[in-house]
Amino acid sequence: MYDYVVIGAGIVGSFIARELSKYNLKALVLEKENDVANVQTLANSAILHSGHNPEPNSLKTKLCLLGNKLYEEVEDELCIPLLRTGAYVVAHNNDEEQKLLDLVETTKANHVTEYELLDYAEACKTEPNLAKSITKVLSLPTTKVTYPWEAAFACMENAIVNGVEFKKNSEVTNITKSKEGFVVTVNKLDNYHTKYVINATGVNTDDIAAMVEKHVSFKIKPRHGEYYVLDKRVKGFVNHVLYPLPTDLGKGVLLTPQIHGNILVGPDSKWVDDKYRTNNTPAGLEYVKTNAKHLAENVPFHQIIRSFAGIRATSDQDDFIIEESKEAKGFYHLAGIDSPGLTAAPAIAKYLVEDIMHVQDKYSINKEFNPIRFKNKEFGSLDYEQQLEFIKKDPLHGNIICKCENITEREVLDAINGPLGSNTIKGVKKRCRAGAGLCQGGYCEEKVYKLIVRETKATPLDVCYDGAKSNMFVSETKVK
Ligand SMILES: Cc1cc2nc3c(=O)[nH]c(=O)nc-3n(C[C@H](O)[C@H](O)[C@H](O)COP(=O)(O)OP(=O)(O)OC[C@H]3O[C@@H](n4cnc5c(N)ncnc54)[C@H](O)[C@@H]3O)c2cc1C
Repeated sequence: MYDYVVIGAGIVGSFIARELSKYNLKALVLEKENDVANVQTLANSAILHSGHNPEPNSLKTKLCLLGNKLYEEVEDELCIPLLRTGAYVVAHNNDEEQKLLDLVETTKANHVTEYELLDYAEACKTEPNLAKSITKVLSLPTTKVTYPWEAAFACMENAIVNGVEFKKNSEVTNITKSKEGFVVTVNKLDNYHTKYVINATGVNTDDIAAMVEKHVSFKIKPRHGEYYVLDKRVKGFVNHVLYPLPTDLGKGVLLTPQIHGNILVGPDSKWVDDKYRTNNTPAGLEYVKTNAKHLAENVPFHQIIRSFAGIRATSDQDDFIIEESKEAKGFYHLAGIDSPGLTAAPAIAKYLVEDIMHVQDKYSINKEFNPIRFKNKEFGSLDYEQQLEFIKKDPLHGNIICKCENITEREVLDAINGPLGSNTIKGVKKRCRAGAGLCQGGYCEEKVYKLIVRETKATPLDVCYDGAKSNMFVSETKVK
């Protein structure tokens, strides 16, 4: 019998799992995918927003501001990387300058204390490639960038070390109420008994809610967003997150510097019917290109190394929905967690655990809780002397597997064998970036594949790119 079953291991479920592990209770996280952070948390802009544009007094604003601060606390504890970029919201003419002043009013109402209006010449001192059509800029210094997958792994790894159980490839297919709480059925097969259920399933929150409620009070309206990724050789082309003025459809097409030097261009925003649609479209990518040109001169599109798309779990209500079900006591919804959900995630977890579920009144503190997650420094981020030192200590650092990103055999082995290790090509890429560079795995995928076979003792045909049935090979091509 579990105390809590958390459904969904995106950034929200992962922070909740860690928060629960601070108490003496039995918790289980169920994830339908083959890995943590494979849906919304996989495909987003990676920005920790300052809180300048959600509606004043909304949960989005409150939790965005707190979440932005809480990332500073977990940065060292959990080795979650933060890039303190700051952000510029740009205006191009009198009309847009007026809208920028309105945005300043929202920024103030949202209690974002650090902001400044700059004219074009001032902004260009730190951002020389700004589009020449820009006239005014709102500077938001508390905006940062993180590495969302790493953040989710870090939380889940730390939660596991502190006693939480995690099961991947576990799709919740039914939930029934029981005398003690709930019976959660996974893959139409296995039943888990629990006192409380936390529904952190992103785009699926309304479907999961319908398993315990006759009248679900919200509906998820999926919103598609497409991106280009520019190679890390463009590092420094822009130093801040560059936003256009927000519209009803969100924050618009952005230029966003990433932790490892790449720049993201996007996203667009389209309502779609299919919750699982993550393909790119010619029209979407063209829109992204056209709009990025309003932010900077000569965007280096010749450095595009890939494109991707994500689905926002926007709801038919304007705000995050974080509440106990009205029909099923002990069942908690985290719905409509679209942007700024990544930013807000640590605050969402605290708000749910302490203010909504009052876990502190039901369970004692886990005195053994260890907040620290250890992770080696990335080999590619070290200077030459430090790299030599690393190789001396561990010769497997001397074998470079991914040449584009300078990823060593030791880093790939840690990705496979770590506390939340992975046996897939994409899982290894998400953990250590082997295959994330210019050649997109053309050189190293085969080497990673062989290391997975060796380390996990898998048969060569069993290794998958990502989820079930994505086998790298279907049959042998040579007869022995
Ligand atoms: C294009 C785009 C750009 C964005 N940019 C930003 C940004 O820059 N900054 C920001 O703060 N936010 C941003 N967001 C929002 C942010 O990505 C999300 O708010 C956040 O990732 C939500 O996390 P989550 O854990 O709620 O959802 P998810 O990451 O979607 O996790 C839900 C999990 O539940 C699992 N699940 C679903 N159904 C089941 C089931 N039946 N059984 C078991 N598991 C199940 C899924 O597989 C998934 O892993 C963006 C989102 C998108 C799409």
